[in-house]
Amino acid sequence: MIDLRSDTVTRPSPAMLAAMTSAETGDDVWGDDPTVLRLQSTLAERAGKEAGLFFPSGTQSNLAALMAHCARGDEYIVGQAAHTYKYEGGGAAVLGSIQPQPIENAADGSLPLDKIFAAIKPIDHHFARTRLLALENTIGGKVLLPGYVAEATDLARSHGLSTHLDGARVFNAAVASGQPLAALCKPFDSVSICFSKGLGAPVGSVLVGSRALIEVAHRWRKVLGGGMRQSGVLAAACLYALEHNVDRLAEDHANAGHLAKGLASIGQVEVLSQATNMVFAQFPQEHWVPLEAFLKERGILTQMVYTSRFVTHLDLSRADIDTFVDAVKAYFAR
Ligand SMILES: *Cc1c(COP(=O)(O)O)cnc(C)c1O
Repeated sequence: MIDLRSDTVTRPSPAMLAAMTSAETGDDVWGDDPTVLRLQSTLAERAGKEAGLFFPSGTQSNLAALMAHCARGDEYIVGQAAHTYKYEGGGAAVLGSIQPQPIENAADGSLPLDKIFAAIKPIDHHFARTRLLALENTIGGKVLLPGYVAEATDLARSHGLSTHLDGARVFNAAVASGQPLAALCKPFDSVSICFSKGLGAPVGSVLVGSRALIEVAHRWRKVLGGGMRQSGVLAAACLYALEHNVDRLAEDHANAGHLAKGLASIGQVEVLSQATNMVFAQFPQEHWVPLEAFLKERGILTQMVYTSRFVTHLDLSRADIDTFVDAVKAYFAR
């Protein structure tokens, strides 16, 4: 199958599986799984933070971070298009009693500074207490500009807010921009990083931040049901990914560029954007259902919607991209 729906669809490679089966394990709820501890400290060091905490999912990692920053009745400023706001079931409000204050994302994925400023509430009993600014990098595949991140987080700090980065794909941002991971993480008090996306691990996210913050998040992880036992088996996959699958993200980015170029050469397709490993394109609505079925019959999985997203990853080769583009061409040539 050529699966372009997401970079979450990758399967663990034989070498990754071998690393998992040979992992040294313990009971991580007791804090003595050596492989989990190694993953947490390795990533914390690479991100330039004091501590790390392993989670079964990025959703839980983000939620535990939000709950560590914000108490009941507090508020966090977030993008309308942000994963924590739009794609996590409203967890911050549902489980954290945290009020989101969404702001429309600009086309480059940023939250305009004047809108952040305007959304910060005065300290007054009418208002929720604005406690946190949450950004996402990459967002829709786009890398936030470093200058913008510095300004936005300075603005937040100058009003006493903490800062969180949903860095599910921050390694894509690092590889695409040539910035070290630590530089991308530096402006933030906490960063959540996914291993189950382009890095190719079957599960896992790590939250990094100060020791004090991670201690609070650790408590929330337990409350949220995220305490795992011999999770060194999973952490071993993440360590393998850190070692073998980071630099190769550049290949995914090049493949996404190739895919965008291929689609743009088809008259009926409008390519809206390509950045890192994502391409967004629009197809005439009457073709969504038949085109998706046509591709599926040829072993190509896509999701045709108003704005369709195509994601490259380590289980897709340059030849697979050509097969996909040729199939779309064949469909429109019928
Ligand atoms: C995938 C993703 C997450 C976390 O998702 P899980 O499926 O819960 O691991 C968080 N933020 C962004 C931007 C993501 O793409």
